[in-house]
Amino acid sequence: MFEDKNTSKTPLVNLGEFKLIDHLTQSVKPQNKSTVLGIGDDAAIIDHSNNKTLISTDLLLEGIHFDLSYMPLKHLGYKAVMVNLSDLYAMNAKPTQITVSIAVSNRFTVEALEELYTGINLACKNYKVDLVGGDTTSSTSGLMLSLTAIGNATQDRIVKRSGAQEHDLLVVSGDLGAAYTGLQVLEREKAVFKVNPNSQPDLTSYSYSIERQLKPEARKDIIELLEELDIIPSSMIDISDGLSSEILHLSKSSEVGFHVFEEKLPLDPEVNLICEEFKFNTTTAALNGGEDYELLFTIAQKDFDKIKNHPLLSVIGHVTEKNMGCQLITGLGHQIELTAQGWQSFEGEKN
Ligand code: ADP
Ligand code: MG
Repeated sequence: MFEDKNTSKTPLVNLGEFKLIDHLTQSVKPQNKSTVLGIGDDAAIIDHSNNKTLISTDLLLEGIHFDLSYMPLKHLGYKAVMVNLSDLYAMNAKPTQITVSIAVSNRFTVEALEELYTGINLACKNYKVDLVGGDTTSSTSGLMLSLTAIGNATQDRIVKRSGAQEHDLLVVSGDLGAAYTGLQVLEREKAVFKVNPNSQPDLTSYSYSIERQLKPEARKDIIELLEELDIIPSSMIDISDGLSSEILHLSKSSEVGFHVFEEKLPLDPEVNLICEEFKFNTTTAALNGGEDYELLFTIAQKDFDKIKNHPLLSVIGHVTEKNMGCQLITGLGHQIELTAQGWQSFEGEKN
């Protein structure tokens, strides 16, 4: 529905690789002291002095991870950076640099890539990270994006998936399921548009969910909040595939079980409304929806008073011994074993 049919655009061949890189990165100016040398040489130089360096990479493929028929390129650029930074926040680290590598087919124009970089640059500005390099190549089909985030943390603040202890509390930031309900709305509008290209959907009552799907924010604010509250979680992960799947990751790495209370799952009212309209179960959307990019972590009970009633944080359960498994406790008190029904990249390929 947002596809550009304008043919008066600049083909990539008009610029060539080197001019294209210059064109896309001309406005990039390092903002971090740790960026000693950015774009323009054979390698970037980063100095994190005495802190540990943390690195995380993501690969995103058109048709598998994103659909350009409803994802504007600017949003794709922004979201790709968010997904990447979210992994470093999930280690309780601060991202400072990213690299961006792209493979593009000649159906993309210079203007289309400018849009992509507008999103990337905006994300860098908002999150105070420097774009310090990448690679550019052609592809025979579609768009591929690979991002690497580089960041740092002192050894004592780094949080892994593996530190959860029995009796710790399970905490999640923000709310769950909206990225999924947003995707359902967008998929429906795409189907409507195929039948009637002149349809002008009114999406205002779905705006929160659509924004959560198209323009998620990584939880830098939560990492800063934890520092202010003087809390170091015992384990942490970001929610990319869905709450259930991430709880199972914490469980496996920490060798513990979890009790999660259905009634405690934080939901935006819009998620309830969309689930009603689409005849979905809200708990399923919260547990298996994915792409929320919220932080899920465990804290010691002694820290409970510091987060109690905080509007951005919800205690949704606690850590149990390993042999009790990972259980959802329903409103009626029934126990249901959690299973990973998150998005599975290899299953996706069969569709
Ligand atoms: P090399 O041949 O050494 O790989 P390139 O011409 O690919 O050099 O890259 C030149 C500079 O531009 C390097 O600093 C590289 O990191 C940066 N760069 C290349 N492609 C991109 C891109 N898509 N986004 C940001 N920086 C890029
Ligand atoms: Mg190169």
